[in-house]
Amino acid sequence: MASDVAGETSLLLGGEDVPPVHESNAAGRSPFLFTCDHYGRRLPKRLSNLGLPASELSRHIAYDIGIAGVAEDLARALDAHLIAQRYSRLVIDCNRPPHVASTIPRLSESTVIPGNEALSQEATEARRREIFEPYHRRIDAVISRRLHDQAPTVLVALHSFTPVYAGVARPWHIGTLYRRDTTLPPLLLKALRAEGDLVVGDNEPYAVSEQTDYTIPVHGEARGLINSGIEIRQDLIAEASGQRQWAERLARILAEIEAALRAERVI
Ligand SMILES: [Zn+2]
Repeated sequence: MASDVAGETSLLLGGEDVPPVHESNAAGRSPFLFTCDHYGRRLPKRLSNLGLPASELSRHIAYDIGIAGVAEDLARALDAHLIAQRYSRLVIDCNRPPHVASTIPRLSESTVIPGNEALSQEATEARRREIFEPYHRRIDAVISRRLHDQAPTVLVALHSFTPVYAGVARPWHIGTLYRRDTTLPPLLLKALRAEGDLVVGDNEPYAVSEQTDYTIPVHGEARGLINSGIEIRQDLIAEASGQRQWAERLARILAEIEAALRAERVI
């Protein structure tokens, strides 16, 4: 059944599909604002699983395994606002600029995505209009409101990465992901290294670029916010116990960073 999205007839999401934006603790008092671009792995019913078997749709190519649990526990622990996107990155990647080819991947790692082949302009635009844009509009509106209210705001984009990519094992337990901000990433790196038991990636396994990122450049850098991405290795947070432990660890570290930023009157 067609529904109305922003005044236009829906070509993608129907009555049985959930809205793309998920939020927790919208009234949270923490300066940290968490985003989670690859939180979910839902598929709009109309897309018929993109022609993929369930085994592919539960892999890292579909979403950031484990990060949803970490994000929820972390947001709760810090009383922070979390804005997340429920649909699979295979439908549209909410951390890619919409003009790059990989925004709707036809190939992910070594898996061909049949439902993304030969997409019409109309179908491409529907994914953008019904999933990508509402998510980013919401983040933008929340940041605008916080700036208007003079609420201190530190943007942290939460992600997870696969332990083995294209046959290569990754040694890091956790990594920071940043480019222009010189405030938060050094504090995060220092605190993570001080833990003593972690292999910490400094812009590893990923660094921010205009081709591969959207949330940090657009909502962090362009808005002038203190910001960083955090990437956690997926085998560490595949189960609820690991998610809880990592959320507790990050809550402790981020609380210390908040105290340091307040002491320096940076926020
Ligand atoms: Zn991600």
